[in-house]
Amino acid sequence: MLVGGVPIGGGAPVSIQSMTSTYTYDIDATVKQIRQLAEAGCDLVRVAVPDKRDTEALPSILEQSPVPIIADVHFHYERALEAVEAGVHKIRLNPGNIKDRKQVDRVIAACRERRIPIRVGVNEGSVVERKDKAARAEQQGHLAADYRAEMVQLMVRTLEDYLRIFEDNDFHDVVLAAKSIDATMVIDAYRAVSARFDFPLHLGVTHAGPPETGRIRSIAALGSLLAMGIGDTIRISYAADPVFEAEDAKELLCSLGLRNRTEPELIACPTCGRIEIDLIRLVADVRRKLADIKSPVKVAVMGCVVNGPGEAEGADVAVFAGKGKGIIYVQGEQKRTVSESEMLDALYEEAVAFAARVERGEAQLTNTRVQIQPPDPLPRKDGSVPLVIVNR
Ligand code: SF4
Repeated sequence: MLVGGVPIGGGAPVSIQSMTSTYTYDIDATVKQIRQLAEAGCDLVRVAVPDKRDTEALPSILEQSPVPIIADVHFHYERALEAVEAGVHKIRLNPGNIKDRKQVDRVIAACRERRIPIRVGVNEGSVVERKDKAARAEQQGHLAADYRAEMVQLMVRTLEDYLRIFEDNDFHDVVLAAKSIDATMVIDAYRAVSARFDFPLHLGVTHAGPPETGRIRSIAALGSLLAMGIGDTIRISYAADPVFEAEDAKELLCSLGLRNRTEPELIACPTCGRIEIDLIRLVADVRRKLADIKSPVKVAVMGCVVNGPGEAEGADVAVFAGKGKGIIYVQGEQKRTVSESEMLDALYEEAVAFAARVERGEAQLTNTRVQIQPPDPLPRKDGSVPLVIVNR
């Protein structure tokens, strides 16, 4: 399946999706945020179109967007038709919140004509019947008996009901989602959906919260599923600037080896009682400074020569700090010793120089563990010399 030229499913790389938090009718603000998301690694961006003025903004947004755009439709099938007409690359629509079947059929027909995929999803919070009291009571009875298993089955059954509508229309460009706010429920639901259906899956934890807590919840669920080979597109959703969503999704895919890094990777010691410089600040400064290097050079910032060399094997450029100074290594070779105040600039210079050598084909990025001979121990504040024990 192609979404505006981006391949989805069928062994294609996992795509990153996010959603704008602007009013879509505010074209400039929306385009600005789409560009920020694309810059942060988003492959696809979704925009909400609750009103006609939102769909009216779509042609201009589409013209300026660097990535394919998905229209997020709820309740109003007219918005879906208008979005399709405007040229969006995918529609997100849940038949469950458009009650007239004929209206859903019209949207499907419009999408088929333009070869636009539709994402169909269920949420734990929305699959339980709310209007039919008898049906609701029956569902509640089942859920009370074994909530988790019954909820997963209810989500699968609801998707089956939705998919019947698409099958009746002979429409197969469908992406499925089955979300929850509970990470373990997300894992169970997607495992069941993946076993039952053969459509690409869009992974997400719904309403995950602010990044500080939503990050753990999202990575626990999505990381587990991706590690099992489940998932074709992902969205990490936060109550915050969506750029954080794209950045974290990219880091998740890179950490799982599902996407190649294009920027420096930072390895840093967590610090301990052996530390003799302000390493936390140094790491933050290094991270900021490395941001303009467009090469996946691995940089290690280590607080001492005790465990540092062993842990930094695999880094292209590394610094081992001691009292007031640090020793810089490039691919296992000791390069220079610098003072604490020079450490940041020296590390950056070596990283830039190494990235340039890689660019010219004179060096290769480390993809195996390089051997680092531990430097001579740097004296402690009190002048004593620490024992060097290198963990192997
Ligand atoms: S590298 Fe040194 S300072 Fe950092 S955590 Fe390990 S032992 Fe402690």
